Amino acid sequence: MSVTKDVIEMVQEKDAGQPEFHQAVHEVMSSLEPTVEKHPEFVKYKIYERIVVPDRVVIFRVPWVDDQGEVQVNRGYRVQFSSAIGPYKGGLRFHRSVNLSIIKFLGFEQIFKNSLTTLPMGGGKGGSDFDPKGKSDDDVMRFCQAFMRELYRHIGPDTDVPAGDIGVGGREIGYMYGYYKKIVNEHTSVLTGKGLEYGGSLIRPEATGYGAVFLAAEMLGTRNQDMAGKVAAVSASGNVAQYTVEKLTQMGAKVITLSDSDGTIVDEAGVDKEKLAYVLDLKNVQRGRIKEYADKFKDVTYYAGKNVWDVIKEQGIKVDLAFPSAHENEIEDGHAEALVKNGCYLVCEGANMPSTADSIKIYQDNNVLFGPAKAANAGGVATSGLEMSQNSMRLAWTRDEVEQRLHSIMKNIHRNCLEAAETYGHPGDYLTGANIAGFLKVANAMLAYGVV
Ligand code: NAP
Repeated sequence: MSVTKDVIEMVQEKDAGQPEFHQAVHEVMSSLEPTVEKHPEFVKYKIYERIVVPDRVVIFRVPWVDDQGEVQVNRGYRVQFSSAIGPYKGGLRFHRSVNLSIIKFLGFEQIFKNSLTTLPMGGGKGGSDFDPKGKSDDDVMRFCQAFMRELYRHIGPDTDVPAGDIGVGGREIGYMYGYYKKIVNEHTSVLTGKGLEYGGSLIRPEATGYGAVFLAAEMLGTRNQDMAGKVAAVSASGNVAQYTVEKLTQMGAKVITLSDSDGTIVDEAGVDKEKLAYVLDLKNVQRGRIKEYADKFKDVTYYAGKNVWDVIKEQGIKVDLAFPSAHENEIEDGHAEALVKNGCYLVCEGANMPSTADSIKIYQDNNVLFGPAKAANAGGVATSGLEMSQNSMRLAWTRDEVEQRLHSIMKNIHRNCLEAAETYGHPGDYLTGANIAGFLKVANAMLAYGVV
């Protein structure tokens, strides 16, 4: 039996009850199989066994008082997975579904994603089962302060630099950074995704969505195609979805879907610049529901209780490109078959692990261009890395400069994935390429450190 299979079994046994973490380890370890023979040194020094165990996991109580004066108690997490190539780096997720398994899967993925960006960042992730949706600004502020009251002792600009993720946007980062600054008495790059007025980078809010589209454009280029005239499905309507739509539209594609956890809209005319401006206001300022889009614009259908992939499957909607941008395992049972049947030939993952293992197999069997999350959404953390660089230099780059750097990072990621896939005997397989390219740098750093 091979070492990678042993590691998958070990994780299933020792980290029981963590299905999302098992899924992520299974995906990465299965792709690393071709490295085993070429690198006996990795086997000898037990790199495969070591990389699936976090450096440390911090779980803490977050007590706070809500608007009604009631005491609330949430759970806080920070998984510091690997600092082999740089300080821990990875977002904070605030969502009721957050648990140790989800934070570990995200932190594990982050190791390889951050390595792929070519920037010196290790992997980590954190969050809480607190759900900001529907809460007042004051409730969110008090929660963020209570969360930082414990987190501050585990992070630092050279130790661990969190950012946003689901439920953590500019508002939450502002409250957490303000509180950190108050209690530590330092203005440093301890969080990214900051506001422009206090150390944020231009293009950081746009970066994950833009990056996914840049990668998709490179992938299309391998088939001598571009974005012009393509019809795209985008799921969700949060940060990643919003800027995926913006860049797709700028490049000449037409986006016909958006969603939130209540339902999906289909707008065959396409989400144009004006409609997108409405979505940004609806979601980021009014904090409303996507159903309101269908009330506002003509000839839009709203499907309550369905996600984008249910609607594509049930209504037989034709799309060329798919950009899942909501949450893990959103493309499941029959969704991938329906996408293929309806003509989709590119799936680019803005969200983390949005496709089940079975769905990925269907893409691969049907020659669908598949951009896996750790390559496709790496633009976000890459631009966080650029925010850290600007903070260290105490200067701010222009919008164009940051976007150009992001674009060139995404082109490099594309090239590195293809090169690693080719070298290790899986030409054209971006999933294998991303996992191997991300892994090699971290594994070599671990070897250099000896057994620590
Ligand atoms: P966000 O701004 O909070 O938006 C999340 C969106 O997904 C919302 O539309 C939300 O709908 C929907 N959603 C979340 N969980 C859901 C669920 N269980 N069922 C149905 N809908 C759900 O978050 P985001 O930053 O865009 O993140 C989206 C995905 O991208 C996540 O997988 C995240 O890990 C990944 N990602 C984000 C970044 C980044 O820079 N932000 C970077 C890399 C990867 P509701 O509002 O109704 O909940």
